[in-house]
Amino acid sequence: MFSKILIANRGEIALRILRACRELGIATVAVHSTADADAMHVRLADEAVCIGPPSSRDSYLNVAAILSAATITGAEAIHPGYGFLSENADFAETVEEHGFVFIGPTAHHIRTMGDKIMAKTTMRELGVPLVPGSDGALRDLDAAREVAAKVGYPVLIKAAAGGGGRGMKVAQNEGEIEEAWSVARTEARAAFGNDEVYLEKYLDKPRHIELQIMADTHGNVVHFGERDCSLQRRHQKLLEEAGSPVLSAEARDAIGATATAALKKMGYRNAGTLEFLYQDGQFCFIEMNTRLQVEHPVTEMVCDVDLVREQIRVAAGEALGYEQSDITFSGHAIECRINAEDPETFMPNPGTIKVFHAPGGLGVRIDSAIYAGYRVPPYYDSMIAKLIVHAPTRAEAIARMLRALDECVVDGVKTVIPLHRKILSDPQFQKGDYTIHWLEKFVESLRR
Ligand code: ADP
Repeated sequence: MFSKILIANRGEIALRILRACRELGIATVAVHSTADADAMHVRLADEAVCIGPPSSRDSYLNVAAILSAATITGAEAIHPGYGFLSENADFAETVEEHGFVFIGPTAHHIRTMGDKIMAKTTMRELGVPLVPGSDGALRDLDAAREVAAKVGYPVLIKAAAGGGGRGMKVAQNEGEIEEAWSVARTEARAAFGNDEVYLEKYLDKPRHIELQIMADTHGNVVHFGERDCSLQRRHQKLLEEAGSPVLSAEARDAIGATATAALKKMGYRNAGTLEFLYQDGQFCFIEMNTRLQVEHPVTEMVCDVDLVREQIRVAAGEALGYEQSDITFSGHAIECRINAEDPETFMPNPGTIKVFHAPGGLGVRIDSAIYAGYRVPPYYDSMIAKLIVHAPTRAEAIARMLRALDECVVDGVKTVIPLHRKILSDPQFQKGDYTIHWLEKFVESLRR
């Protein structure tokens, strides 16, 4: 096992990783920008190194500074968290070239899955079902028209290098394809420096269901079930559940068997998430995230597992030590992302937190790095906390979340807590009757 790990991240996820390290008896090195000198992850780590000015590009994305920090502190491994450098294959490669362990998959797998076209081709070859669409990149507009006619409108033009919902355009009919094609390419070029695009049938009522995978370096691959992340606004997840209100244990077992077999064949290692759109009982793979996800706590609650601990153990070469049949699912978990945003306009609302009272009690977990007096910097993501509840049934989890949200006090910045209350109180949400398009319409209806 490692004796010291550098955490190449900030905020709640840096704290989350630090906690797992502490319990494993591993010393921690925090890195931070000048804007984060007073951050909780810096205060709680055994050592801290300032790696640059506020802008992420000069600090949390500054590979040379991070590697220097690892060298001078004698860290053996680097955990990238999510976001920042977590899905940067060059970073993973450089880390290992410098003799550190990258706590995550191989650079090769990060690269393959980071290119959505390559990811889809790989998954198709491994027998994972996909959304109907183009075989790889579209040559030109005529090719787009051809595939669209074959799979049927509406269709979606998506960037090969896509992420965060950017470079994605719907064409409702043939009249719209030319514009969708050119807008998606322009956006993709601007955002990712790569204008390769592909086409998928646009599903009108899917759920976003993703599967948590963990693999060791001894050929063992298991899954920890699904998360339903259908509640999204502008392709950004807001509230997640485990398990999905619509998935049977049999359906979970079936997709789990397909996914774990595929990743075993790939020789995948560490944590990963396969994202699917689920409609009419069919799973369609859309992408794989080769890292820990924001929403991992809901899985931890229903499976009673520490996923970060598992990531660290397998990175250190340990075998999982359990099999699929050892993994059981108990109760229901919900996570609400608490963003420092205006709950109506979703404009980020950074500022100083005057009062913070965290909810508690049975089955309540809060993953957050904020405290009273903390200044939410304007430079980074607006998520300031994740509130997670676990209860025997979904109905009880909803009641518990509403209770916990009522107890939660964040004074000084606006948050999306009022929106979460409305969602959780909505009869249709309570029935579990929603698709990926539900939240946008719900938010619209609140405006009227
Ligand atoms: P990104 O990497 O940009 O997040 P994804 O491929 O993961 O892109 O898609 C993000 C979201 O966009 C999905 O969760 C879903 O809400 C929506 N989406 C993606 N593909 C389709 C599709 N074929 N039909 C309908 N919605 C889609």
